Amino acid sequence: MILAVLKEKAEESRVSLVPEVVKQLVQQQVTVWVEEGAGVKAFYTDEAYREAGAAIKPRTEILQQADLLLSIRSLVPEEWNQLAPGKILMGVYQPLYNQELMQQWAEKQLTTFSMDTIPRTTRAQSMDVLSSQANIAGYKAVILAAYTYSRYFPMLMTAAGSIPPAKVLILGAGVAGLQAIATARRLGAVVEVFDTRPAVKEEVMSLGAKFVEVEGAADASKAGGYAVEQTEEYKQKQVEKIAQSAAKADIIITTAQIPGKAAPILISQEMVENMHTGSVIIDLAAATGGNTAVTKNGETIVHKGVTVIGNSDLAGTAPADASKLYARNVLNFLKLMLTKEGQLDLNFKDDLIQGTCITHKGEIVNERVKNLQP
Ligand code: NAD
Repeated sequence: MILAVLKEKAEESRVSLVPEVVKQLVQQQVTVWVEEGAGVKAFYTDEAYREAGAAIKPRTEILQQADLLLSIRSLVPEEWNQLAPGKILMGVYQPLYNQELMQQWAEKQLTTFSMDTIPRTTRAQSMDVLSSQANIAGYKAVILAAYTYSRYFPMLMTAAGSIPPAKVLILGAGVAGLQAIATARRLGAVVEVFDTRPAVKEEVMSLGAKFVEVEGAADASKAGGYAVEQTEEYKQKQVEKIAQSAAKADIIITTAQIPGKAAPILISQEMVENMHTGSVIIDLAAATGGNTAVTKNGETIVHKGVTVIGNSDLAGTAPADASKLYARNVLNFLKLMLTKEGQLDLNFKDDLIQGTCITHKGEIVNERVKNLQP
């Protein structure tokens, strides 16, 4: 079996395998090919991949001959259209938002695994790319906010007078939100946090932040760790609470997402306008519509003196570590399907293989993608 790492599109700085992981796969008898320059933007050289046991190959040869193609982002249509039936793709394809593309891949007889659909179970933790990348994004969101903000984060008492600490409001205390809390606290900010899942209250408080409570959240305990949609009454109460906290905040970091749906708008235009000039909002949910009414995905705008950065790709701003963690997630997942001889054995009785596989033998096989409402 030939496993190949493709160079990503121009907008992606990460790479799906790093030399350290290539070495482990080679030790497991896997033939690894890496496209020329695939790791350059993440600071992994062709030489390092070669030393780890990979062969450096041109893209055309990889597309024709490799059995399993790794790339974080999907290939362009001209490329996947040419792939022979039975080829396997593994990456982050956001299938819940790209059902039509998944159908086309099924019709092309491609077997595809989307790492972002791995079930959120204990056994899958070491393979969870959403978590490994969200962790980096949460950290970077705070660093970016501190860099952009017009004032200090920590409280300072100097001979020239004192400076109060920055007030940070974090919406969504999932993986990114929790790391954002920890990072903002380390920089000395005062942090308030809001999430629809009351279960996170303890974690939030243990990181030294205040949890803003709204009564009556919908039960998300059966949603595999994800949020669910809330009632109108709850949403109204939530709006009022968030408006109060937002008006006091210097920085807002938003991370609230609902898989397969548009991100909830938690910060209205009016709330943005009520923030003082020089404040900063970092919206990590920008790619699925954003958590503020003014967010523009992939853009930094200044709305009435408030800087709003819509960026769901912040993990890519730490490409060396983001790639390392992504690669380890992929390695742990591949171990579920590799034989001692370095061949693939896909056991669809394994819930992680089944939950991550999107298309196989001409069909969409993933239940979550199949059950999507148009
Ligand atoms: P996510 O990126 O889907 O969402 C981020 C956060 O936004 C979540 O905490 C969610 O509750 C919150 N949110 C959604 N709608 C909201 C709203 N209207 N207002 C405020 N907050 C809202 O989530 P994630 O970070 O990928 O993971 C969520 C949770 O899943 C984790 O905290 C954890 O409990 C669980 N998890 C489990 C595993 C595992 O066991 N393998 C791995 C990762 C995550």
